[in-house]
Formats: sequence, structure tokens, C-alpha cells
Amino acid sequence: MDNKLLLDGIVVAENVKEQLKKQVSGLKKLGVRPCLATILVGDDPSSETYVRMKGNACDKMEIVSKRIHLSKDITTDDLLQTIAELNEDPAVHGILLQHPVPGHIDERKAFEAIAIEKDVDGVTSLGYGQTALGFGEYPSCTPAAILEIIDFYKLETKGMHAVVVGRSPILGKPVSALLLNRNATVTTCHSHTRNLPQILKQADIVVAAVGKPNFIKGEWIKEGSIVLDAGYNKGNIGDVDYESCLHKAFAITPVPGGVGPVTISMLLKHTVQAAVKSSEIKGEATS
Ligand code: NAP
Repeated sequence: MDNKLLLDGIVVAENVKEQLKKQVSGLKKLGVRPCLATILVGDDPSSETYVRMKGNACDKMEIVSKRIHLSKDITTDDLLQTIAELNEDPAVHGILLQHPVPGHIDERKAFEAIAIEKDVDGVTSLGYGQTALGFGEYPSCTPAAILEIIDFYKLETKGMHAVVVGRSPILGKPVSALLLNRNATVTTCHSHTRNLPQILKQADIVVAAVGKPNFIKGEWIKEGSIVLDAGYNKGNIGDVDYESCLHKAFAITPVPGGVGPVTISMLLKHTVQAAVKSSEIKGEATS
């Protein structure tokens, strides 16, 4: 590991949570407890695990976790009704619909039903548009986590060539927009991209958001690059072939212990921010 910078997501997440504790205790004095509502539809084991992890993270931070578990057989209208009730509930500050939802449900319609002020995971098209334009309050949590790591380690983005592999609405596209807003020159790659290794060879910053284990190889990347692996595949395996990329990279996130823990801390951060905002007490709570 000589001269290598290990981008430790656990350290970054702890730093975020330390800052949040002050805000949570400020809110507590004013009788406000931040609340995140999670909606799980069906019994997919991975989704159940993700929702449980998010709920447990809330518990540890004295953030109320309102867990709603709906049957896999519900209709889109049933789900919209649940979201409408949470939108109306003043005790709920953030709403997270765990995806994917069962195939018969119109997922996009459900995302769009989340009130913008409670869209703490940046899933609505309005939230995404605001992020892309540079004034979004709550970007999608994994893209926000990647930027948090960049900021914590004071990594330069201005003028850098960032290559993002993946263009999903929750990850590849918003992280490309965030990096562009930070004055990186951004190339977004996808399954139809030709000559991916040649493009990656030009990257100062590589963001892996592909969903394929060990996909990005050390021989594809440039000596001295920064490698941020958002991938999380079965068996705790990232989208980056860590061992081979470690030799070439200047800085790299591990999996596990990289982007993942910071993503959860971003969800907590956005929920607390939404609580502060809804209580119109930002000044007092953050002072
Ligand atoms: P996704 O919706 O499946 O998107 C994958 C993207 O990769 C698509 O844009 C796809 O291109 C592209 N792609 C697929 N094969 C490719 C290839 N051979 N070359 C170049 N691009 C290719 O996945 P996602 O939801 O964005 O998630 C991506 C990864 O991040 C997964 O490992 C997931 O588990 C992880 N993730 C982690 C967190 C976290 O908290 N750490 C959160 C969310 C997701 P097309 O658009 O052309 O299909």
C-alpha cells in the first residue's frame, strides 16, 4: 500500500454521523425527531436486508425509523395511497421506497408520487433535474456518497477527466451530473459503449457503477488514477477488480467499507436536513 490512498468509507461515514449528532440533539431540544419512512414491497431478501440496515442506522442516530412492509401483491394504486399518506404526515421527514419493486408495479409512478421535500434519495425526476442543474437539496444517496468521499479526502475534480461506467437514474447519471458541476470533464459509459478500456485509460477519476463483479480491470486504468467503486454484488464484491486496480491507482475505495457505508450516512444526513427544513429552525438547530 506504499503511496496509495485507501479511501476508507467507514471513516468518512463516522465523520458525517458525528456532525449529524449535533443537529439531531439541536432538534431534540426543540421537540423534533427526524423520521425516515422506508417502504418495502414484497419479500426480496436483499431488499429486506438493505431496509433493515437503513432502519438500524436510523436507530443508532436517534432518527425515527418508520418501517412499512407491504405485500408483494399490492397494486400501484395501493402503493400510491401509502406514499400519499406519508407525504401528508408531518412527523415524517424523508421517504425511501426500496427498489426494485415487484414488476407489476409502476415504479416510476411511485417514485414520482414522493413529495419533493421528502425525496431524500433523489428518486423523483424533479429531484434529479435539480441535482443536474446544481441546486438539488438531496441528490441520490450513492452519488452524494461519492462526492462526500471526494470532499473528505480533498481530491481534485476541477479539470479532471472522470469516466463513469453506468448510467442508471439513481447512480450513473446523477454522479455524472454532480462531477460535471464540480468542473470535471465527464464521460458516461454504458453497455453500448465501444472500446471501454481505451476510454478508461484516459480517466483521472473512475466511477464504477455497472453491477458486474470485478468488472473493471487494473490493465484498463491509468497509473495514478482515483478509483471509486459504487458496485455491490453478491458476496460483498465490487464492480472493480480491486487487487489489479490497487497496483495502478493512486487512491481507491474498497468493497466492503467504501461507498456503501457513506451511502447510508447520506440517507441519514438528508433526513436530518429535511427535518431541520420542515421545522423552519435551521438556524437554531445547526448553531
Ligand atoms: P443498473 O441500474 O443495473 O445499471 C447498470 C449500468 O451499467 C447500466 O447503465 C448499464 O448500461 C451499464 N452496463 C452494463 N454492462 C455494461 C458494460 N459491459 N459496459 C459498460 N456499462 C455497462 O445498476 P445500478 O443500480 O446503477 O447499480 C450499479 C452498481 O452499484 C451495482 O453493483 C449496485 O449493487 C451498486 N449500488 C450500490 C449502492 C451503494 O450504496 N454502494 C447503491 C446503489 C447501487 P445500460 O444503461 O446500457 O443498460
